[in-house]
Amino acid sequence: MANSRKVVLIIEDDANSRRLFRVLLEVNGYSVLQASEGIEGWNSALKHRPDLILLDIQLPDISGLAVARLLKEHEALKSIPIVAVTAFALEGDQQKKLNVDCDAYVSKPISISSLTQKVDLFLANDNLAVQSA
Ligand code: MN
Repeated sequence: MANSRKVVLIIEDDANSRRLFRVLLEVNGYSVLQASEGIEGWNSALKHRPDLILLDIQLPDISGLAVARLLKEHEALKSIPIVAVTAFALEGDQQKKLNVDCDAYVSKPISISSLTQKVDLFLANDNLAVQSA
């Protein structure tokens, strides 16, 4: 089953959050790629085509909202689900952009169950389909 492991790209500048997300995802059976800045994350997405992207909105170089827009404008990457992570409530215009470009979001401090549930929602569909067939 090792080759059926889904790959999640974590784009998050805070090392502690990144470590927490990585461990939570790994214990739930996902393979993890990591980036600490927006452009680095964008390049990693282009190179590796992950199955899902966990995207912090507050990043040091370009914002997570800009990364999400780049992804959704790219023909080969736009179908990758994006789960946004935000530390505080966004203003109206930014919230609208998040709603348009991101498929789900979780707020910091994150609840462990909500993070893995949101990821499972997008990536466990294959398993569910097999079970109900
Ligand atoms: Mn951040």
